[in-house]
This record gives sequence, C-alpha cells and structure tokens, in this order.
Amino acid sequence: MINVAIVGYGNLGRGVERALEYADDMNLVGVFTRRAPETVAAEKAEVFSIDDLFTKQDDIDVCILCGGSATDLPEQTPYFTKYFNTVDSFDTHARIPEHFENVDRAAKENNNVSIISIGWDPGLFSLNRLMGEAILPKGETITFWGKGVSQGHSDALRRIDGVLDAVQYTIPNDEIIERIKAGEKLELTTRDKHTRECFVVLADGASEEKIREEIVTMPNYFDEYDTTVHFVSQDVLNAEHKQKMPHGGKVLRVGHTSEQNKEVIDYSLELDSNPEFTASVLVAYARACGRLAKEGQTGAYTIFDIAPKYLSTKSDNQLRKELL
Ligand code: NDP
Repeated sequence: MINVAIVGYGNLGRGVERALEYADDMNLVGVFTRRAPETVAAEKAEVFSIDDLFTKQDDIDVCILCGGSATDLPEQTPYFTKYFNTVDSFDTHARIPEHFENVDRAAKENNNVSIISIGWDPGLFSLNRLMGEAILPKGETITFWGKGVSQGHSDALRRIDGVLDAVQYTIPNDEIIERIKAGEKLELTTRDKHTRECFVVLADGASEEKIREEIVTMPNYFDEYDTTVHFVSQDVLNAEHKQKMPHGGKVLRVGHTSEQNKEVIDYSLELDSNPEFTASVLVAYARACGRLAKEGQTGAYTIFDIAPKYLSTKSDNQLRKELL
C-alpha cells in the first residue's frame, strides 16, 4: 500500500479524493488544508489542519500537492519536499525550469523524491510533444486546446462591472486541424487556431451592447480571438454550463519519413472533468513517486524522467505479457 495525503482541497483535491477510490494499491491518510478543517467538507476523507501533516510524517509515503500554480505551489512544493515525497501539477510553463531547480535542491538535500508539473498540459501533452519530435524529427508540432472551460477567462468575464456570472469555452478550429493533418504548411495567428464562446449573466440594467464590446476588446484575453457572447439567465448558466468542468485538446505532430511519405501523430483528450482527469494523472505518478522513493532515488523529476512501468499496478512480467 502507498499511503497518500492530499494537501489543499479545491477542485483538484476533490478530484484526487475520487481518483484514489479507483486505486486499490493506495490508501488516503487524509486531506490537509490551510483553512479551519471544520469549514472544509471532503466527500469521505478526514480533514486535518495542514500543520498536522508533520505529526503524521511516518504514516505518509507521498503528498499530492493540490494548491494553485500562481502562488501556492512555488512555495509549497519546495517546502513540503523537505519533509515528504511530493507530486504537483505546477502549470506555469515559463516558470517550470526555476520551479524544478527549487524542488530538486529541497529533494536532494533531504533524500526525497518529487515529480513536478504532472497533469495533461504540462504532463501527458508534454510527453507527446517529446515523442513526436523524437520520432519524426522532420515535422511540426502543434497543440490545440478545447473544447473546454477556461477558468482564467471565465474569471476575467466575472470581473467586468455589470456581469453577475459567466463561463467561457475555448474552441479549437477543426478546419485548421484538418488542413494541418492533410500536410498544408500554414502560418497561423492566434485567431486562426481557437475561437472563444462566452455565456454571460447580466446584472439588472446592464447594457448587452456595452458589455459585449468590453468583452471582445479585452486585451490579453479576447482581443486576439473571434469571440461570441451569449447572454443567458443564471438558471440556464447553472443547468447547462456549470455542472461539469469539461476540457481537452490535442497534440498534433505532422512529419515526413521520406520525400514521399507523410506521417501524422494525433493525441487527443476529451474530458468531462478537467480536475478529475488531472487528478487521475497525479495519482498514477504518485504511485511512481512512492516506488522511486522506495528504490532510494532522490531529487526532482518531470514526466520526461519517469519510465511508464512505474505508473502501473501490474508487474513487469504482466506488462510484457498483456500490454506489449
Ligand atoms: P482551486 O482554486 O480550486 O484550489 C487551489 C487551492 O485553493 C486549494 O488547494 C485550497 O487550498 C484553496 N481553496 C480551494 N477552495 C477554496 C475556498 N473555497 N476558499 C479558500 N481557499 C480555497 O484550484 P484547482 O484545484 O482547480 O487547481 C489547482 C491547480 O491545478 C491550478 O492552479 C492549475 O495550475 C493546476 N492544474 C494543472 C493541470 C495540468 O494539466 N498540469 C490541469 C488543471 C489544473 P487549502 O485547502 O489549503 O485552502
């Protein structure tokens, strides 16, 4: 059994609790939160204060860190890696090298293992970008996201004066995807690759026209995209757009193996629940983390460093027989 702690209980923390239900070789020690534990209702697990982690150090093999990437994980992962083996989903791509250095130092100084930036992007998509480049060195890689809800863009809509609530979908351009797969060489702008669709609940008296204009011209978020805005009631938003957190996307590698032959690698994800899927990836890599620690390895790792067999509950022999 690998004993696991969930550190931080938001969407991802809840997803990890659910994913662990399907992992027979893992035991959930508890949820650990910075908030008053009695204010955090986990689905089944016991909830403790984050300070109690240290009283349970001997009972925990791996901490799955479920804090946010903006401010929580840059501090939490190096800190907790001094005391525990850890896995996180740090997704600020530009800062991953710096995060890796910080966590690697903490891990090596304290003989622990940490696997960082696990999930689907970064994560499974990164792995597929690497494979595409390695296998088809003459070619191009392109990543599309969606259809799915972007939390950052939905938050940006909610901050507009006169908007009560909103959900934003990122939608990939299927026509462009097909043209790339057909081998067309395209110079793509941001606008070509994705469109954005917004469902917005207005406050009483707010002007549809004014708010639509404010949305489609919002710098960094919408001005570089073709954006459609729909105004809906709160009931419709709740019923049709807030029940799940769908997402997905694809990594395409289109390359040549000779002058005359084109090869396409198309790795796609269609997710009903972004946090539950991300959590399932984290749980598989928590298994790898526990095993590497047992082998006496130390240091920080990314998805590129972990051999796939460490993710599976099956023995090496079983894997050779059943999946090779
Ligand atoms: P949340 O905002 O839901 O949770 C982040 C943290 O905020 C929690 O750990 C929790 O810490 C705290 N928190 C949660 N709810 C509340 C609340 N009601 N009041 C106060 N604090 C709260 O983020 P997500 O779980 O949705 O996402 C976590 C990270 O996962 C994201 O920042 C993103 O970077 C990453 N991610 C990575 C992906 C990948 O593919 N690599 C894909 C999807 C997400 P505490 O319990 O200690 O208060």
